[in-house]
This record gives sequence, C-alpha cells and structure tokens, in this order.
Amino acid sequence: MNPGSEIVQLRKDHHDAPQPSPTPRVTLVVPVYNEEASIAIFLDRITQVITDIGPSIRFDILFVNDGSRDKTERLILAEAVKRDDISLINFSRNFGKEAALTAGLHHATGDAVIPLDVDLQDPPEVMVEMIRLWQGGAKLVNARRVRRDADTWLKRVSAGSFYRIFNALAEKPIPRDVGDFRLMDREVVQAIRQLGERSRCNKALFAWVGFETEEVTYERPPRAAGESQWNYWKLTKLALDAIFSSSTMPLRIWTYVGVGMAFVSLFYSAFLILRTLAFGIDVPGYASTVILVLVFGGLNMFALGIIGEYVGRIYTEVRQRPLYVVRSHHVAPKADL
Ligand code: UDP
Ligand code: MG
Repeated sequence: MNPGSEIVQLRKDHHDAPQPSPTPRVTLVVPVYNEEASIAIFLDRITQVITDIGPSIRFDILFVNDGSRDKTERLILAEAVKRDDISLINFSRNFGKEAALTAGLHHATGDAVIPLDVDLQDPPEVMVEMIRLWQGGAKLVNARRVRRDADTWLKRVSAGSFYRIFNALAEKPIPRDVGDFRLMDREVVQAIRQLGERSRCNKALFAWVGFETEEVTYERPPRAAGESQWNYWKLTKLALDAIFSSSTMPLRIWTYVGVGMAFVSLFYSAFLILRTLAFGIDVPGYASTVILVLVFGGLNMFALGIIGEYVGRIYTEVRQRPLYVVRSHHVAPKADL
C-alpha cells in the first residue's frame, strides 16, 4: 500500500471515533504554496480574530504545505514550536490546492472545519457569523462574495460562463461565487472523506454532499502579500475536471447531435433523389462534398475528444494513486486527541 494513503487511513480511523468535547473546536485548514511573505501577516490577523471570539470556541490551525520551495515550511515550524495550536503537513512535492485541501479535510480533527487562503482573501472576521450559524444548527455555511472587483474582467467573465455551463449540466449546482471558504460540520467532512475520486474539484463535491446549508456574504479583498499561483491554464483544467467528473451530459450530447444529423441527412437525401429524378444528373458538386467531409470529420474529432476525456478519467481512477504524498507531519498538541 502506498505510504500516503496508509497515513490517511490510520489517522482517519483514529479520528472517526466519537469524541466528547466540552468546548467545540474549529480546525482552520490553510493550504500554502510558496507563501513566505504571507505567513506572519496571516497568523497575526487570525490570532486577533481568535482572541476576539473568546473562549467559547477553541481553534487549531492546520497548514498544508503543498511542496513550497521557499521559507514557508521553516516559518510555520518556527511558529508551531512556540504555540500549541499549529499543525503542519508537508507534501513531498506540489500537488495543487485541491489536493492540499483534501489532505486538510482528511487530517482535520475539529468539530467543524473552515478552509482559508493564507493571503487573507478569505477575511477571517467572516468566521464569526459562520460559527454563529453553525451553532444555530447549520451543517454547512457557504461564504458568497458579493463583488468580484478584485478580479480582472476576463476572470469575471470566465468564472460566469463556468457556473452557467456547470450548473446546466451537473446534477447538483455549485452556488455562484462561493469558493472553498466555508464552514463544514464534522458530518459534512466525514461525507466528503468518503468521496474517493482522483480528479477533484472540491467546490463540486461540497455541493454534492448536501446537508442543511446557510450562507454568509463578504467582499473579497485583493491578496495581502505575495503572488497568486493560479493561471488560466490551471483554472481551465479545474473547470474541465469539475464538468467532466460531475456530469455525463457531454457524452450524451453526441446522441442528440447524431439523431439531428440523421434527420438532416434523410431530408437532404430525399431532396437529392427528387432533384435528380426531376432534372437529371447535374454537374457533380465538389464544394458540397468537401464541406460535408470537413463538417463530419470535425464533429467526429470533437466527439472522440470528449470520449477521450472520460477514458482518461477512468484511467486515473482505476490507477488508484493517492491524491498526495505526505513527507512529514507535525501535529499540534491542541489538535491531537
Ligand atoms: N495554493 C496551494 N497550492 C497551489 C496553489 C495555491 O496550496 O498549487 C494555495 C495558496 O498558497 C493560497 C491558496 O491556495 O493559500 C489560494 O491560492 P491563490 O491565492 O494563489 O489563488 P487565487 O486567490 O488567486 O484564486
Ligand atoms: Mg488568493
């Protein structure tokens, strides 16, 4: 068995047992990739919010270091030895934010989990309202950003079309403008842990599991420090992952296209036969033949590409590789049950 998945398994068994806890504890899951510039600012602000919330809720912070090549790991460890509430998982290389988040959900031990970006684009103050709704009985509290001013025009438009296409195709729509920032009760985390697929888009999975959901809204500020690791290539890949792993509609579309084409061909053939009977044989049409060949060739290639997407995904699923490999793990005394 692969070492990564073994660790996941051990820890999972360890944490699945019911734990009576007097004060509820929230685990903040923070994926980090080359974020040396953000760690200190993030911890300052988080510590302030935790202090403001007071002793009615306990917190622990779980950093998932997604193969950073800068001082991120050293900075976090230096803080972790000073206080009792910081855990750190180090990946063996960069596996991407979705994998980091998944690792966080596998290892989080709190009664609720809140994923946060380290660049403070998910304002920690919003957690106050999330926790209030959670204590009022909500199992999932989504945070929806009200304005996307911090994003470029292109990002807004592409995000908009993604939601439209995804929600038209998938069985459970993704709420618009809700990122990974949200509060998840233990039960929701447990349900998500059971979803074993390799090509993941967490947003789509969060929407799929259901549960009683509430929503808070916030304004998304620009990054506090450092640079975004995302680019349009990664975002496109994530969007395709989300669509192809949540829906088989793109495959079925070809059935409809096929039926449509069959009808059109039928009428066109009838027309050709009648015309030949009425007016005799015309000069053979080069243009129409070439156009038909090109159109059908193009459609065939496209359909093959779509089928390829699914075959590729089946291949990644059957390989059963773990989503990430853990190189080392520091557990905060506070998070160790
Ligand atoms: N991140 C990560 N692995 C990656 C890319 C990003 O763990 O390969 C983390 C990053 O450190 C940050 C969060 O994911 O905490 C969001 O990344 P970023 O701010 O670059 O994305 P954006 O806000 O631009 O969507
Ligand atoms: Mg960001």
